[in-house]
Amino acid sequence: MREPEFEYDIIVVGGGSAGLAAAVAAYEEGQCRILLLERDHELGGILLQCIHNGFGLHIFKEELSGPTYAERYIDRLHALPIAVRLDAMVIDISPDRVVTYVTPSEGSVTVRARAIVLAMGCRERTRGAIRLPGFRPAGIWTAGTAQRYINMEGYMVGRRVLVLGSGDIGLIMARRMALVGATVIAVAELMPYSNGLARNRKQCLDDFGIPLLLSHTIVDIRGKDRLESVVLARVDEKLQTVAGSEQTLEVDTLLLSVGLIPENDLVEATGVEICTRTRGAVVSDLFETTIPGIFSCGNVLHVHDLVDYVSEEGEKAGRAAARFAAGHVKTGSTYAVTAGEGVSQILPHRIRLDREPGEIEFLLRVNREYRGAAILVQEDGETIATFRRPVMAPAETQKVVLRAPQLAPVKTGLTFSVVPDSSPSAFTRNRASDAVAREDNPSGEEMICIVCPVGCRLKTHRDDDGSLHVTGNSCPRGDVYAKNEVLAPMRTVTATVRIRGSRYPRLPIITAQPVPKGKIFSVMDALGSVTVDAPIAAGSVILRDVAGTGVDMIAERTMPRVESQDKS
Ligand SMILES: Cc1cc2nc3c(=O)[nH]c(=O)nc-3n(C[C@H](O)[C@H](O)[C@H](O)COP(=O)(O)OP(=O)(O)OC[C@H]3O[C@@H](n4cnc5c(N)ncnc54)[C@H](O)[C@@H]3O)c2cc1C
Repeated sequence: MREPEFEYDIIVVGGGSAGLAAAVAAYEEGQCRILLLERDHELGGILLQCIHNGFGLHIFKEELSGPTYAERYIDRLHALPIAVRLDAMVIDISPDRVVTYVTPSEGSVTVRARAIVLAMGCRERTRGAIRLPGFRPAGIWTAGTAQRYINMEGYMVGRRVLVLGSGDIGLIMARRMALVGATVIAVAELMPYSNGLARNRKQCLDDFGIPLLLSHTIVDIRGKDRLESVVLARVDEKLQTVAGSEQTLEVDTLLLSVGLIPENDLVEATGVEICTRTRGAVVSDLFETTIPGIFSCGNVLHVHDLVDYVSEEGEKAGRAAARFAAGHVKTGSTYAVTAGEGVSQILPHRIRLDREPGEIEFLLRVNREYRGAAILVQEDGETIATFRRPVMAPAETQKVVLRAPQLAPVKTGLTFSVVPDSSPSAFTRNRASDAVAREDNPSGEEMICIVCPVGCRLKTHRDDDGSLHVTGNSCPRGDVYAKNEVLAPMRTVTATVRIRGSRYPRLPIITAQPVPKGKIFSVMDALGSVTVDAPIAAGSVILRDVAGTGVDMIAERTMPRVESQDKS
């Protein structure tokens, strides 16, 4: 057998937000030899194409764009003695922690580590996965592929667009297409509810007048070379198409945002046990898989809604891997964590019986929208803890923390389920005040608050003296939000401009402060003629006082200069 050529304490596979956080935390924990392998030619993963803002509210307490969030972790990584191989595609991982990767410069390389952290992200479900009927013309893209083409590679994918799937990626791409000049006919969704966050429904669809067609699916695709139209139909509560509800929509582009799947082919081949609910590895409270010394985190473990949770998970997996590599972790007996009634998935799957005392964070998802419900944690039918939640939706991860005294007596297993919450809560009070507001002020403006996931239904009304009042909010931030939305709605605009001399032809930029909502398209128009030259540093001003708003547009990321590859 061929001997491994190098030895590392830890190998991290994947340089997205999970892998970056894992590598940094592993070094900080163990000051050990770490190798990070990334198949792309730069670090950052999916974040580099997510040029919109909304990242980092938990970790950095500010709203960042994807590239800016990534750059903060990349800078931290480069400040440490961590080996990085780019263009390095891992093709095999053996149970005894031998990793084989290939690069254009080194060919095939085999390395062995004491511990491995898997952080390979996820991939999008395609047309084949949802069995869309009809012809197979050009113009049908997964939303993430279209996002990369538009935001990084500088291609326009179409002009008249239908988006299928109302998760966050679908909503964000509907807005992006509208911003870059396409007509977005609608976002169609099979389920009777949207899988996206309330803030995205509001800022991506409502702002641009894009209809959301719930309980709809595609029953035919027409067009031979290029997509010409799709036939959409309503579905009933059993998700069966309703005869006679078909409508033909003339579109040249269909964007599919129909789910993400953890990128686990390598892991399955290694023999790691896979969870049928998450489609990622089964892990313990250390994020260790069923093969000792192999850890998993981020979207390869389960699909996350927030990058902050990905980074936190990466840090935990990285620290655990460093302790394992130093010989401080022994794999012993565990008990199971089970998803009960109303819970579609939960992590971690297993808890070590001999773990050091301390709290554990559980991440779970519910199977439908719940209003005024609670998460119940039980062992053998006996309740250990209850967590009241005013609103829970399948799209949002619920974080639940059990403290050491709650965990200490547990020996056989934990079950998490959702039960109705009959106790009076902030939410029920909201509903009551909302109803009163509606009755008293039938002409008031209604909106869903997007400040936090609670999603209060706000209503504004004016007194005879013209002063504005808000009802339905459960905290003062809702009051401020609703008044701003009525009096002077503001939005952060993200876009790209042409850049010369860089690896990619588009540079992502962002307004340094929010601009009036009515100025969004003036801002976009002002960018059409802008071209900059690499190198560009993150934060550089690209355009001052854009569209007369008094606000500057700044670069979201650093773009180094790259000598032309063109030999002609
Ligand atoms: C379109 C979109 C919009 C989003 N919007 C938001 C938002 O507004 N706010 C928010 O908080 N979160 C958002 N998220 C979620 C968040 O950005 C992601 O969950 C997170 O960035 C995933 O990080 P990751 O490291 O697990 O995966 P990735 O970023 O996908 O990184 C995985 C890395 O592993 C590499 N890799 C894979 N296989 C191999 C291999 N065999 N060998 C070597 N390398 C490999 C890949 O090239 C990639 O770089 C969004 C996600 C998407 C897709």
